[in-house]
Amino acid sequence: MSDTNEIIPQKRYFKGSTDGKRPLHHDPLGKARSDYDLIVIGSGLAGLTAANVLGRAGHRVALLEQHYNFGGLATWFKRRGGHVFDISLHGFPIGMKKTCRKYWTQAIADSIVQLDGVRFDNPQFSFDTTFTREDFTDKLVDVFGLERAQVEGFFDALRKMDFFDPSDETTGELFERFFPGRNDVHRLLMEPISYANGSTLDDPAITYGIVFSNFMSKGVYTFTGGTDQLIKAMKAELVKNGVDLFNSVEVERIVVDQSPMGERRVRGVMANGRFIAAKAVLSNANIRSTITDLVGPEHFESDFLERARAVRLNTSSCQVYMGLREGTEIPFITDLLFTSTRPTFTSEALCDFHGESRTFSFYYPKVRPHAAPRYAIVSSTNARFEDWKDFDRAAYEVEKSKLERDTLASLERYVPGVAEKIEHVETATPRTFAFYTEHPAGTSFGTKFEGLPISAELPDQVGGLFHAGSVGIIMSGWLGAANYGAISANKVDAFLHALAHEAASEAAQS
Ligand SMILES: Cc1cc2nc3c(=O)[nH]c(=O)nc-3n(C[C@H](O)[C@H](O)[C@H](O)COP(=O)(O)OP(=O)(O)OC[C@H]3O[C@@H](n4cnc5c(N)ncnc54)[C@H](O)[C@@H]3O)c2cc1C
Repeated sequence: MSDTNEIIPQKRYFKGSTDGKRPLHHDPLGKARSDYDLIVIGSGLAGLTAANVLGRAGHRVALLEQHYNFGGLATWFKRRGGHVFDISLHGFPIGMKKTCRKYWTQAIADSIVQLDGVRFDNPQFSFDTTFTREDFTDKLVDVFGLERAQVEGFFDALRKMDFFDPSDETTGELFERFFPGRNDVHRLLMEPISYANGSTLDDPAITYGIVFSNFMSKGVYTFTGGTDQLIKAMKAELVKNGVDLFNSVEVERIVVDQSPMGERRVRGVMANGRFIAAKAVLSNANIRSTITDLVGPEHFESDFLERARAVRLNTSSCQVYMGLREGTEIPFITDLLFTSTRPTFTSEALCDFHGESRTFSFYYPKVRPHAAPRYAIVSSTNARFEDWKDFDRAAYEVEKSKLERDTLASLERYVPGVAEKIEHVETATPRTFAFYTEHPAGTSFGTKFEGLPISAELPDQVGGLFHAGSVGIIMSGWLGAANYGAISANKVDAFLHALAHEAASEAAQS
């Protein structure tokens, strides 16, 4: 992966999840203050957005990231030969434009553009779509032969879904209610959302309704310039807003004080072996690791802890990155291709070890108009950590090679002759995601629905402790994570103002 602040000569290449981290030869916290108003742990889109909102509001904020790059899963890496690969830039809803305008800058928002093409190809159906309500309605009527009123009824029901509605209907039950026995329709509606947030037919219908409606409003969007340019622009904005940014800093512990009355309050963090004080801490690490590893179970009420331990993690991902040799090109196929050779759809099969379903994201020169024209293709599949975790090094390489061969064979069906143009192939597995993000089981999309109340209730357990990051399915993905960062930032802001008010009152009385 590309280095931003690395200052040591690269004598040896450290290969992520198999070799571990390259040893540090400098103190990344050399310029850190001894105390802050807020420490943000982790630079995913939720952590970055929270830090920016609070820096802009005038608080003294430090952001500590264990990786050498900022962005969390919103990341990229470079390889010799001019290759740049984006990890999670496949697409997000239009809402990201408003979020970036509000919490970042107009320039970032202006770089968000709609994808030109989305295609489905599987044994049940095959077509191009704009991925909007209008086009999906036409397809469901013209291709799938459904009644227009039935389809409109489904979309209206989704739009009316409210987060606070009491309902235990699952997405699968919702589909059966509107389109009974239509596995092909369920596939169209579910497959892309499973790729976007790891959810399944068994998750609450409300999570589906919110995420799917977000996409259906105007289609699928991307960031022109690539993830590297986005994170560069975000870092510049953070610096402008006075946020102190530190990479290669592992937070080992969130330090909590407990009063004789049993009141628990955040005091700061231990990071790279050093204590830094803070009035508030916002963790962008996984919610379960935040509670059990960073804070420690002893600081939580037992019933809360029990609920937290029961939070289910989402699955992980595999990706195959393919870079075309300089000077070679491919015609425009589509931007996002959902392909499968499985005759029918099940949620479980999307995670099959060496499965038959994958998405291809095509990165044409239009993605990085500022750079020399290059082509890259990234294949993504949902995956289970358990399927990958136990291989020894040799077996791991064998399975990765098989995944690469299968992926190239699948790609050749759409781009004949592409294999001869590809000069770099590399694979990420759930182990890779676990290594680079420290998320348990390499979860790509945080937690299931029950993770959201646990995240939101953290400050009730420990004063000054907040969380923002992929939880509850609806707070996952670029848009969900960034919005959740802003929501949590508002809570931190209110907390810090209340503290300042308390201190001023005490000073006035003495
Ligand atoms: C393969 C893949 C494809 C995806 N595609 C899309 C897509 O096309 N569109 C979309 O909208 N979303 C996509 N997503 C999901 C999206 O990228 C994530 O939901 C989102 O970026 C997560 O942001 P986050 O704020 O929750 O934190 P994360 O990105 O998970 O970042 C958390 C950060 O915390 C840091 N951290 C953890 N513990 C510590 C510690 N102790 N000390 C210091 N730092 C720590 C980690 O290093 C990491 O940088 C994809 C995800 C994956 C894996």
